[in-house]
Amino acid sequence: MNACSQDVPPLPFAPRPFSDELLLSWICRLAAANHVGLNSFFPEQRVISRYRINCDPGEEFIARMAAMARLPQSALHRLLLPNQFPNFAMLTFMQAPKPPLALGDEDLLEAFPLPLCTDCAGEREPTHYGLYWQAEVGLLTTLLCPQHETQLDRDCPACDRRQLTLAWKHPHLIVRCLRCGWRPVTPPKREPASSYPLGSLHLLYRLQSDISAALRDQTPSNLWCGPVSAGQFLRVVDDLFWLLRTPGLSAICGHKFTFTEGFLWTSSYRDSRTFFTRTEYLPFSAWDGFSKATLLVAIAATMLGNRAFEMLGREPYCPEPTAYFPWDWIVPSLRKANARDLMRRVADWPPAIQLPVTIAARRRRRTRRTKSIGR
Ligand SMILES: [Zn+2]
Ligand SMILES: [Zn+2]
Repeated sequence: MNACSQDVPPLPFAPRPFSDELLLSWICRLAAANHVGLNSFFPEQRVISRYRINCDPGEEFIARMAAMARLPQSALHRLLLPNQFPNFAMLTFMQAPKPPLALGDEDLLEAFPLPLCTDCAGEREPTHYGLYWQAEVGLLTTLLCPQHETQLDRDCPACDRRQLTLAWKHPHLIVRCLRCGWRPVTPPKREPASSYPLGSLHLLYRLQSDISAALRDQTPSNLWCGPVSAGQFLRVVDDLFWLLRTPGLSAICGHKFTFTEGFLWTSSYRDSRTFFTRTEYLPFSAWDGFSKATLLVAIAATMLGNRAFEMLGREPYCPEPTAYFPWDWIVPSLRKANARDLMRRVADWPPAIQLPVTIAARRRRRTRRTKSIGR
């Protein structure tokens, strides 16, 4: 324990963290149990990123919180995302940006601090454990509830305002709306949806589940690129993040174009701003939920290739896709240096997804050769 933590008075109530709990979830339970606001834990910071707290809040913060709750610091270290997910470092876009970039994320002290699934709240509030958030919900790729597949939100489901609050009903955490008095109820039993095509939300759900599994070093499903190890799968996802997100890789479409723009057919929602305008050069942690979902569905569709059309029940009409979609339009439009970079990465991909890229690259070379001969 360092000198700073010895000056901190312990709190009267200190709920123990659950082994699979998100750090911020435990902090919220600690605050509610002692009837203090979250800002009393962050006295010197005006703006603080939620994501940074869950990944890397700093040793001083950990020491202070551990002293307040009379816990060993290791109990809080265990809750950090990089410690709950052994493969966390393999996804470069998952890393917490260093300040001041972290300030692009939403301010912890302004809105409801955690993404809420009303079904989870209704199911868990009456249980022995009470309401708490598992670590998986803190991942940047978790946009839907891991249990119920519902969209996570910070607004009240009844009045749609940002006035949800967490309170303590001994010995549990509860959630209520300060404006309309909403309280969670046990959700009705729902039959799993069997409709086909599955739609982009279900595709997103399948991808986020496999990313979480692979980050835990569990084998992901073979839906995306055949039988793969967790490490191989994460490498493909990370490379596709680079390819689809980096502006200016296309030699034809200009420095504000990202390949994700070519996947707008996957979504029924339209935004008047381009993908670049919404995300520019921001870190992934600072993106809005819609932009994150757009990019992840583009990654999913790229891995699936033509199989995505049947799963989504639609396909792009321009350019008309061939058997090597989407590599048939991505590879020919890449700048030369970026094409070399892509092929270097693809060399480590599993064969099922490597094949369409190498065929498209071979065609690109053949077309260029024909052009130069014709000149
Ligand atoms: Zn849920
Ligand atoms: Zn309300």
